Amino acid sequence: MRIAVDLHIHSALSPCGDSDMTPNNIVNMACLKDLDAIAVTDHNSAENVEAVMKLGIEKGIIVLPGMEVQSREEVHLLCYFASPDRVLAFQEGIYEHLKGKNRPDFFGQQVIMDEKDRVKGFNDRLLIGSVELSVEQIVNMATSLGGRVVPAHIDRKTYSIISNLGFIPPGLDIKSVEVSKRGSVAGLLRQYSQLKGYRIIHSSDAHRLGDILEREFFVEVKEVSVSGILAQL
Ligand SMILES: [Zn+2]
Ligand SMILES: [Zn+2]
Repeated sequence: MRIAVDLHIHSALSPCGDSDMTPNNIVNMACLKDLDAIAVTDHNSAENVEAVMKLGIEKGIIVLPGMEVQSREEVHLLCYFASPDRVLAFQEGIYEHLKGKNRPDFFGQQVIMDEKDRVKGFNDRLLIGSVELSVEQIVNMATSLGGRVVPAHIDRKTYSIISNLGFIPPGLDIKSVEVSKRGSVAGLLRQYSQLKGYRIIHSSDAHRLGDILEREFFVEVKEVSVSGILAQL
């Protein structure tokens, strides 16, 4: 079955995410755009995942629990899991290696919300920073919890595995890579033939509601569920 997805969306928990990226606004916009599945992937945290997942169940849209981790090498990695419990266990490990405090005036607010968009609190960690873990350590940590890792926006000049490491370390348990919404795949494949072995995912990396994808990128799944999508990553 072919389903329309956008697997890279930031909520207001990300310091760079708009304040109207609330759980209800994200899910309502995804429904309006007629998407079948989305993922919430905030920077180095997953504290809004449960609220968005609850709304997803209510409104009939699949929500993948996820997180966008910034490694020690400043590489962005999208980490997806089968359940909120798994992503929260992963978050515990990430928090152990995340140093510093947020400066809301400088980086932005990091809002934690419930499924009614009520503010539960503010995350005071430096979510915009890097964790003291290598790409390899993060991939191992995520896969040991049954998660899948997809290097984010590999076509960009910053925060990408290709720009920062020059290649994808061959031993990594990675099957898919993300190319930005309007990134050229043909050019990348010409430049890095290694990428031919990977599945290409397109997502919005939305920090604003209007940026969430239309029905424009599809994945083929055997089962329309979180685990069905995870199996394709
Ligand atoms: Zn990123
Ligand atoms: Zn992102």
